[in-house]
Amino acid sequence: MTHAFSRAADEKVDIRVGTVVFTIMHFVPLLAFFTGVHWSAWIIMAVLYLARVFFITAGYHRYFAHRSYRMGRFMQFLMGVAGTTAVQKGPLWWAAHHRHHHKHSDDQEDIHSPKRGFWWSHTGWILCKKYDKTHHDLIPDFTKYPELRFIDKFDWIAPLLLGVAVWGLGYWITGTGVGAWGITLVGFFLSTVLTWHATFTVNSLAHVFGNRRFATRDTSRNNLWIALATGGEGWHNNHHHYPGAACQGFYWYEIDTSWYVLKALSWVGLVSGLRRPPAHVLEKHLIKKGAADLGMFQTHWERAVKALADAQAKAGDVAIEQKQALEEMLSATRAKVEEFAKASAEKAASLMPNKEPEAVN
Ligand SMILES: [Zn+2]
Ligand SMILES: [Zn+2]
Repeated sequence: MTHAFSRAADEKVDIRVGTVVFTIMHFVPLLAFFTGVHWSAWIIMAVLYLARVFFITAGYHRYFAHRSYRMGRFMQFLMGVAGTTAVQKGPLWWAAHHRHHHKHSDDQEDIHSPKRGFWWSHTGWILCKKYDKTHHDLIPDFTKYPELRFIDKFDWIAPLLLGVAVWGLGYWITGTGVGAWGITLVGFFLSTVLTWHATFTVNSLAHVFGNRRFATRDTSRNNLWIALATGGEGWHNNHHHYPGAACQGFYWYEIDTSWYVLKALSWVGLVSGLRRPPAHVLEKHLIKKGAADLGMFQTHWERAVKALADAQAKAGDVAIEQKQALEEMLSATRAKVEEFAKASAEKAASLMPNKEPEAVN
């Protein structure tokens, strides 16, 4: 498939320790065929999967990246530590990169847009050393806390302790070292790999498969299956339309389990100020009401332009002037489309009532 955007030479999977460990992690659970697996390992796996998906969805994403609700400083620290157990680097790294994604969704700058390649958006960009750094400038509101900077830097401590704890639990349950390893391989390692890919699908599949309710400037989709696997993150088109909400399911039938847990936590006072999309936001940019879907229009156009340019580059027998003229025309049209999209989005934004989001607790 032709990708709309090409990647720079330094945007590649770098072969290094992290990449090797990441790859091996996918095969480690298979060792359970040799150790055997106690039935309780499957329960531990399910619990650790669901819990860590929640810490990433509700913590790293909806809190650290989007500040869609409030927490006290100690709760915020606990949520950060809990998030690191999912082995997806630190909360500041994660949230800063995600803020960048919303700023540049599916444009040339978006690091993990599927427009740069599906596997790149899923896992490739994470294994590229160019994107290792935490961009503190994108997250000054949380970088100011030294305890968050500490867990962002030492993001391996909590997962290591969790792995050891699962092994200890396995030993307590089975009474043997081999039994403990069986429980660790499934309970810790397999659930970690599954949690990774659940999160990654939001960057890859949720920008490719599903329905679009809102005409956003990106390719985000609403997808029930991704929502079920990620604790509610599959309503990604809703989310790109209104990223400030603590819920991503905007209607009762859009299942969003992280939202239900956040609601429950708000009843006991552990979190507060959960934001929901205001009514007027739900009525804006609805595709079924005729809103121009510039995000998808732009996507198809970019792909066509790239395919034409590639074909031109390959066709050696085309006269050089013809080639140049076509390239100029393509880039001029592309610039016009981008200008048009920008102007439309600005116009649409100017029509939005300037209202603060409603805080519902
Ligand atoms: Zn997205
Ligand atoms: Zn987001």
